Amino acid sequence: MPIDPNYETVIGLEVHSQLLTKSKIFCGCPNKFGADANTQICPVCAGFPGVLPVMNREMVNMAIKTGLAINGTVRELSVFSRKNYFYPDSPTGYQISQYDLPIVEHGEIFIDLPDEPKKRIGVTRIHMEVDAGKSIHEGIVGASWVDLNRVGTPLLEIVSEPDMRSSEDAGAYLKKLRAIVRFLEVCDGNMEEGSFRCDANVSVRRYGAEKLGTRTELKNLNSIRNVMRAIDFEVDRQIDIIENGDKVVQETRLWDANKNISRSMRSKEDAHDYRYFPEPDLPPLTIEPSQIAGIRATLPELPDAMAKRFQDEMGLSEYDAGVLTASREMSSYFEDANQVVGKSGKKNAKATANWVTGELLGRLNKEGLEIENSPVSAINLGKLVALIQTGEISGKIAKKVFTHMFDDGGDPQTIVAEKGLKQVTDSGSITAEVDKVLQAHPEQVEQFRGGKTQVLGFLVGKVMQATRGKANPAMVNSVLKEKLG
Ligand code: ADP
Ligand code: MG
Ligand code: ZN
Repeated sequence: MPIDPNYETVIGLEVHSQLLTKSKIFCGCPNKFGADANTQICPVCAGFPGVLPVMNREMVNMAIKTGLAINGTVRELSVFSRKNYFYPDSPTGYQISQYDLPIVEHGEIFIDLPDEPKKRIGVTRIHMEVDAGKSIHEGIVGASWVDLNRVGTPLLEIVSEPDMRSSEDAGAYLKKLRAIVRFLEVCDGNMEEGSFRCDANVSVRRYGAEKLGTRTELKNLNSIRNVMRAIDFEVDRQIDIIENGDKVVQETRLWDANKNISRSMRSKEDAHDYRYFPEPDLPPLTIEPSQIAGIRATLPELPDAMAKRFQDEMGLSEYDAGVLTASREMSSYFEDANQVVGKSGKKNAKATANWVTGELLGRLNKEGLEIENSPVSAINLGKLVALIQTGEISGKIAKKVFTHMFDDGGDPQTIVAEKGLKQVTDSGSITAEVDKVLQAHPEQVEQFRGGKTQVLGFLVGKVMQATRGKANPAMVNSVLKEKLG
C-alpha cells in the first residue's frame, strides 16, 4: 500500500502466548480446550472466597526458556501484581499479572525481510499473567453466558519496543516470534484459535521528528494478514487526521476483518486506572542462577541458528532459510526430504528448498493446508527431486508428477513408470525425433545455416513437443547442433 512518504510509521506489538503447560497457572485443572462449558474449573478458577493460588513451576520454566531464546535478561527476583478491573468473564475482579518487575527484560528478535538485511527489534519485557474466561453472546437473546474454562490459562505477554517501521516489519516479527515459541514447544502459535494473540500499537510522525506520535492500539487481529492490513489502514487514517489539522486520539480500536476497517472501542486506559499493587497471595518469585543455567542447557536449535546452518552448509538464500525455519514442521519436512535427495552437495539442497518453498507451499497455500497435513510426504517429495537431479525426469514433467502426487497420492517412481513419463535419454530415439523435425521444417534449417542461430530454440521446442516433454533437453540440443552443423 502506498503510504505518504512524509510520514514515518512506528509500531510496537504486544503478543499474548498461551502456554502449553499440563495444568493451569494457579490450580490443578487441566489446561485444555474444547470441553463443555464450565467443566474444567475448580474453586480457584471460579474465584471463590478464601482460595489461594499456587504458582505453576512449569510455567515459570517456560517463561525463562522463552526469555533466554530471545537473549533476554531473566530477573532473579520478579513480582506478581494485581491488575484490577471488572469484567464478567473474570470472577475475581482482578487479573494476576506482572507489572514493574517482570520475569524477563531486554530481549531482541531478528526479523527476516526479502532483499533486506536482518533487522533487530527490541523486546522490552516478557511477563507472566493469567487468562480470563469467555463471554458468549451468540445465539442467546436477552442475556450472555460465561464459560470459565479458559480462566487460569497461563499466558506470556511479550512486549516489543516501538522498533517496527512498516506492516511488513510487524508481519516478519510475528512470524519469527511464532517460530521461536513453536521451536521451544511452549505455545502452539495458532492465531486463528487465539492461542497466539497480537495487539498492535501504531503511531505516525513526520520524518525527522524525534518525539513519537500519539498511538492507538488495535485489537481483534487473528491472523498475520489481518495485523498487516489493520496497520496499513490505521497508518492511512492517522495521516489523514493529521493532514486535516486534527489530532490523533489515544484509544483502543477494534479491527473488523469483514469490512476491512477499524472502529473505536474505548479510550485508552492508563496504568493508574488499574490500581496495580503487589499480589498479596503470591510471594515474590526468586530464580536461582543454577535454574537459569539448567534451562539454558536444554534450549533446542532455534530458528536463526538453524537458518544460518541452512545457509552455510546448504547454500540456501537468507530468505529461503527463513521460510524453511518458520516452524519445526517446516524445517523437519525440508530436512527429511533433503535426506532422501541425498547429501551430496549444495545443488541438491537448493533444488529441494526450491521445491518446498515453490511448488509445495504454493499448492498448500492454495488449498489452505499446513505443511503437517501435506498430501505429499517429505519422503515422496525427496524422491521426486531425486528423479530430477539424476536426470530421470525433467523439471517440467516433475511438475505434472507432483500434481498427481498431490491430488491422487502415490510415490513418484510408480507414477513416472505408470504414465510413461520417464525422460528419453536414448540417443537413437532422440536422433529419430530430431530427423523428423528437421524434415518438417526446412525453412528454419535454411535460416540456421544462413546464420540465424536463434531458430535453434524453435527446433528444440518442436522436438520437446513431439516427445511430450520427455526428451532430455541437453541431448536434443547437442544432437540438433550436430545435425545442423
Ligand atoms: P500498555 O500496557 O498501556 O499498552 P505499554 O507501555 O506496555 O503500554 O506499551 C505497549 C506497546 O506500545 C509497546 O509495544 C510499545 O512499544 C508500544 N508503543 C508505545 N508508544 C508507542 C508509539 N508512540 N507508537 C507506537 N507504538 C508505541
Ligand atoms: Mg497494551
Ligand atoms: Zn482450577
